[in-house]
Amino acid sequence: MYYKRQMRKARERYPAGHSTVLPMEFSGMKIIPISVLSDNYSYLIIDTTSSVAVVVDPADPQTVQAVIQEEGVRLEAILCTHKHWDHSGGNKWLKRIYSSCRVYGNAADNIPGLTHPLSHKDSVTVGCLHFKALFTPGHTVGHMIYLLDGRAMGAPSSLFSGDLVFLSGCGRMFEGSASTMLSSLDTVGSLNDDTLLWPGHEYAEDNLLFAAEVEPHNAVRENKYQWVLQQRGQKLCTSPSTIGEEKAYNPFLRSHCAELHLALGLRQLEEEDWNQFRARVLEELRKHKDQYNRR
Ligand SMILES: [Zn+2]
Repeated sequence: MYYKRQMRKARERYPAGHSTVLPMEFSGMKIIPISVLSDNYSYLIIDTTSSVAVVVDPADPQTVQAVIQEEGVRLEAILCTHKHWDHSGGNKWLKRIYSSCRVYGNAADNIPGLTHPLSHKDSVTVGCLHFKALFTPGHTVGHMIYLLDGRAMGAPSSLFSGDLVFLSGCGRMFEGSASTMLSSLDTVGSLNDDTLLWPGHEYAEDNLLFAAEVEPHNAVRENKYQWVLQQRGQKLCTSPSTIGEEKAYNPFLRSHCAELHLALGLRQLEEEDWNQFRARVLEELRKHKDQYNRR
């Protein structure tokens, strides 16, 4: 009920979506961000040679279905990052329309309509689209992210990161300790720098403002912020960024950074190993961000 009410409210408030999006085309593949609810993104990924498609987190199923129809493609799979309604709420509705569509996710997360439970590093193939599922708990116990291999298309890879990583931010640690979240974030940090990041929410502007509080002298962050202001001034989508960019300004991927330690007033203790210390930095950072959001 709550879900339906929120969906209706968002459609009334943003009849054309909260942001204007641009599809990204590669040879043989197309990635279409879809603006849903008040700040979520679903993503439709199309193998343009065989006209089959995959959707990531189709939270507003009717809006997603309209794009599927417009593109004239067949939906073969739903990749669900986690159980929260603003990511998984449309699974069953779409599954009713596209009955052969497979629903992927992690079994620990009670994902509605789940047909194909995934574990760390499992692959999902649809047409010539090859995804690798990566287990990244912390926001929820069963959070997964999906890495689309770009090699076959001569493209960079693409990461669909759900509520793990956003442009300059990370998800709340609802169901995991800071060290669990840290190891999930390290999974992201270990990907190639040219990997495109497609997150679950449009949070760029607020996140970069917060990053300025903890790393005021970061020039890359300031440049990105100016660009984001221009984009958001016209309600344009800020995705994708790249993992290389995120590593340069996203404080949640920079728990190793001395300026951050200074800003948070933290120092590594003598008996503390480096990862324990970084987990403590991450925990403090997340606390600061939560307080910042409430201001
Ligand atoms: Zn969530």
